[in-house]
Amino acid sequence: MENMDPDRIVLRNAHFIGGRHVEGGAATLDTRRPSDGVSCGGLPVADDDIVDQAVQDAWNAFKTSDWASRAPRERARVLRRWADLVEADVATLAPLEAVCSTRPLRDAAAWDVPFTAEGLRFFAEWADKAGGAVMPTATDHLGMTITEPYGVIGAIIPWNFPLVTTSWKIAPALAAGNAVVVKPSEMTPYSTLRLAELAIEAGLPKGLFNVVQGDGRTTGAALCRHPRIGKVTFTGSTATGAAIMTACAENGTKPVTLELGGKSPQVVFADVPDLDKTARTVARAITLNAGQVCNAGSRLILQRAVGERFVERLAAMFEELKPGATWDPDATMTPIISLPQMERIHGIVQRTVAQGAEIVTGGRAFEGGPGGAYYRPTILTRVQGEMEAVRREIFGPVITVQLFDDEEEALALADHPEYGLAAGVHTADIGRALRMARGIEAGTVWVNRYGRTSDFVIPTGGYKRSGFGKDLGRQAYEACLRVKSVLIDITKGE
Ligand code: NAD
Repeated sequence: MENMDPDRIVLRNAHFIGGRHVEGGAATLDTRRPSDGVSCGGLPVADDDIVDQAVQDAWNAFKTSDWASRAPRERARVLRRWADLVEADVATLAPLEAVCSTRPLRDAAAWDVPFTAEGLRFFAEWADKAGGAVMPTATDHLGMTITEPYGVIGAIIPWNFPLVTTSWKIAPALAAGNAVVVKPSEMTPYSTLRLAELAIEAGLPKGLFNVVQGDGRTTGAALCRHPRIGKVTFTGSTATGAAIMTACAENGTKPVTLELGGKSPQVVFADVPDLDKTARTVARAITLNAGQVCNAGSRLILQRAVGERFVERLAAMFEELKPGATWDPDATMTPIISLPQMERIHGIVQRTVAQGAEIVTGGRAFEGGPGGAYYRPTILTRVQGEMEAVRREIFGPVITVQLFDDEEEALALADHPEYGLAAGVHTADIGRALRMARGIEAGTVWVNRYGRTSDFVIPTGGYKRSGFGKDLGRQAYEACLRVKSVLIDITKGE
């Protein structure tokens, strides 16, 4: 899919509660298309009353439908049907995703939509595969664990990959028998509504999947506070994750899963067999989605022997990128989500330069963009670990370069004092690759590649302030279940 007319896409500014669209709320927000700054109309903000209605509907559906009690394979059948509908709906879903997010239409059609469908299928398959066990107690008792859903799970979603992230949260929750209330980002609210409509078409009982729109302080906070929410699963920034954890602690001691920010290193040793190939991997890891990826490889840790040659190649690759709207088939660089976000990125670059860093390429916005926010991919050299661009998550197309001489130094530089989401190691030496993979404190380490594959079985999640708990993998499914222990006295009566 290459073309769309953004002005002809019908956007519904509504919530989705109890199987239908619901309007109204405390206020409206002005959501804008990042590609050209055009308004998408007023998004309603769900207040306490609307959030309460959504959570109560979810709770009633959980209690009164047979979703949690039916045979798990029957739940799986609905999720698989839903996945088929999502895939078949690409002509609607991909433009809905592309219009208000930073996802290019082409990628949304070829990757985000199929990946969303496949996520639903992956978790459908767990529905009858993971459960309790009989435990090795003394033989006068039978001890077992049984697994049970939480009831209603609240899911709070960021703007950078709206469909895919939503599927990673709701698919395991629903497969495990829960109901869900999702709060999309206020910047990318539309594709989630379509996902909810398709769920009903697939046969998901009404009320099991609800969507409440709004900002974090009003709607997100109300969701975390609600007494009927059994667990909150969140993807977003570290600061918001901490606020959500506090709210959940203070309002019912609810468990949370937190997928947070990162400042991930890409370590390149001089022995890589193909410098160009490695440079392409490194470039993509920081320019994909204009660097607005949680595990963007934003810190290049480079062996001094190839330092200059590598940076030259990287700069040439950066300079080839062409900015354009998500629906521009010739564009190879997507917009930044908003102008304030671009100003934030530029501020960090400028302050780091003031601290002594040097700009190799980039360091400013593209001129004459089509009304959106487009920032040049940027390389900063002569940086030190304490400088702002090395320390803070930028969430934009900015990479810093630090040089090392030996493996010990590489490992020390790769370590970040706060974040530990992901890392990349590029080397021809397998022993060194494994030592680095063991040594780096991060939830994922890629060797001679960077970024996810379609292996949903591999969990994703952070160490340190990048969060805890996992999306994907068996771990994400099990995190949607509580474990109950049952102990039965089987001694013979007198
Ligand atoms: P954000 O934290 O600003 O917002 C995320 C969501 O939380 C939004 O829906 C927002 O409305 C909501 N929110 C904000 N304040 C809230 C509050 N007090 N209570 C409840 N909800 C609240 O993040 P963002 O700008 O949307 O996304 C970018 C961030 O997400 C980056 O830090 C990025 O690294 C992170 N991220 C992490 C992963 C991962 O898997 N670790 C994946 C994608 C994005």
